[in-house]
Amino acid sequence: MSDFDAVVIGAGNAGLTAATTLQHAGLHTLLVERHNIPGGCATSFRRGRFEFEVALHQLSGVGTEDQQYTLRSMFDRLGVGDTLEFVQEPDLYRAVVPGQYDVTLPADWAGAVDALEDAFPGNRRRVERFFALVKDIVLGYIAVMRKTPAADVDPVFFRRALRPFKDVLDEHFDDPRITSALGAYWPYLGPPPSRLAFQEMALMLYAYIEFKPWHIRGGSQAMSSALLDSFVAAGGQARFNTAVEAILTERGRVVGVRFDDGQEVSARDVVSNASLPVTYAMLDDVVPTAVRDDLATRRIGVSGFVLHMGLDASPADLGFTTSTTFVNTDMDDDRTYASWHSLEPARGICISSYDVEPIGFAPAGANHVSLMTLQYSDAWEKVPPAAYARTKFAYAETLLDLVETTLPGIRDAIEEADVATPLTHARYLGHPSGAIYGYEQDRTHSWLFRNSERETHVAGLHLAGSWAGSGGFQPTLEAGHRVAQRLLRARAA
Ligand SMILES: Cc1cc2nc3c(=O)[nH]c(=O)nc-3n(C[C@H](O)[C@H](O)[C@H](O)COP(=O)(O)OP(=O)(O)OC[C@H]3O[C@@H](n4cnc5c(N)ncnc54)[C@H](O)[C@@H]3O)c2cc1C
Repeated sequence: MSDFDAVVIGAGNAGLTAATTLQHAGLHTLLVERHNIPGGCATSFRRGRFEFEVALHQLSGVGTEDQQYTLRSMFDRLGVGDTLEFVQEPDLYRAVVPGQYDVTLPADWAGAVDALEDAFPGNRRRVERFFALVKDIVLGYIAVMRKTPAADVDPVFFRRALRPFKDVLDEHFDDPRITSALGAYWPYLGPPPSRLAFQEMALMLYAYIEFKPWHIRGGSQAMSSALLDSFVAAGGQARFNTAVEAILTERGRVVGVRFDDGQEVSARDVVSNASLPVTYAMLDDVVPTAVRDDLATRRIGVSGFVLHMGLDASPADLGFTTSTTFVNTDMDDDRTYASWHSLEPARGICISSYDVEPIGFAPAGANHVSLMTLQYSDAWEKVPPAAYARTKFAYAETLLDLVETTLPGIRDAIEEADVATPLTHARYLGHPSGAIYGYEQDRTHSWLFRNSERETHVAGLHLAGSWAGSGGFQPTLEAGHRVAQRLLRARAA
């Protein structure tokens, strides 16, 4: 008789939805988290009068009351649907390259066409054709996912889905400003448009335009805490400040875990929300050859640099018109991507204001804003410890220089500030190189060629989260629920 039916390692998005799904289905479940709060990336922290959102810029997958999408029903099933309050952003984003363009795209198809036509006259038909292709690709993707026979899938899907996003943009437009403005979301995925499969960007644009971008009142921490509360209310047990250091096996089958204080608990199933390298390093058995071969050909993905700020000025005082703003120094996305391996001044930032549509993180008249650029950890690993604090604040100044080109006055309004580097993310998440989306989010790592989530090659071990699939909020929340449902089906069989 085991101590638990299942142990879930890590209380990130996928760990929380997996644990809550299992416990609600009647499996006696233990959730173990090395940090002192639930959420992984999906957390917040306080500085002075402000609460700072760690990670959530725009949540996809919610949908409106009238046109609901998958997360709403999943949250209902997990008992948190009535607890969470979603805050809709009316716009996708404002995209700016100083001296080149400044355009705001509303989160609806017709409004986005009008905005692009206003900013770049003469392109209406081209934008309409491009958006029609986006919709066709999404329909093709859904058909393939549903295992529709290839002959019945629109051939445009097979011709275009895996083409580089940049090629598809260049087929439609001859003005680089419009391709730059339409591609502003690429850092949400990682690879630049020249390497990003069109399908990935089509899915993202469709998700945000059709089902809208959202914030959560109380931030992503409110969601993480609600999931934890639901898990505990259903009888689940949670341990914080506790790392799992070993996954115990007998004759190739999982039998439990050992914590960092030496205590062991037995369980028939273990779901890991930790990274794949950490998970397999914890295995007290030989790592299966198929897994070793897979991991050896992986590339660790990108991390991020964030300047969190509490500003003593309202969004209107500072000229904010949208919750999300992208500012790039120029339109050379490949150069920006290359710069993520260095400490050269930031070339592109995502600016999030959490008070244009307030989520309750700043007092009235103030504004919580974060500036973020993606970065790999290699440049930061070379910084000597004695120079680390100086280097990170000097680098943060380069993000401020960039934001001041578009939203002047922010620097003077700073009341509280904190900085997170790739090393910060590595320390808080326990992930190699502080990667925030897991492995590189490119075609070679996609579900087309790998299926880490389904193929652990160790009986009783299950993987859920960004490292076993796609990174980002919606994918990981759904992954935990999906993996738990698969586990339940296997136990019932
Ligand atoms: C600054 C930042 C901005 C981001 N912006 C966005 C965005 O706008 N939109 C978006 O969709 N995504 C964004 N992301 C990415 C997104 O947040 C992540 O991809 C997603 O939250 C990862 O979820 P996960 O389930 O993989 O778990 P993670 O959040 O990676 O959490 C894993 C958990 O496992 C725990 N753990 C690890 N090892 C052990 C162990 N041995 N024992 C116990 N516990 C362990 C960790 O402490 C952690 O809590 C951002 C991330 C960051 C950091």
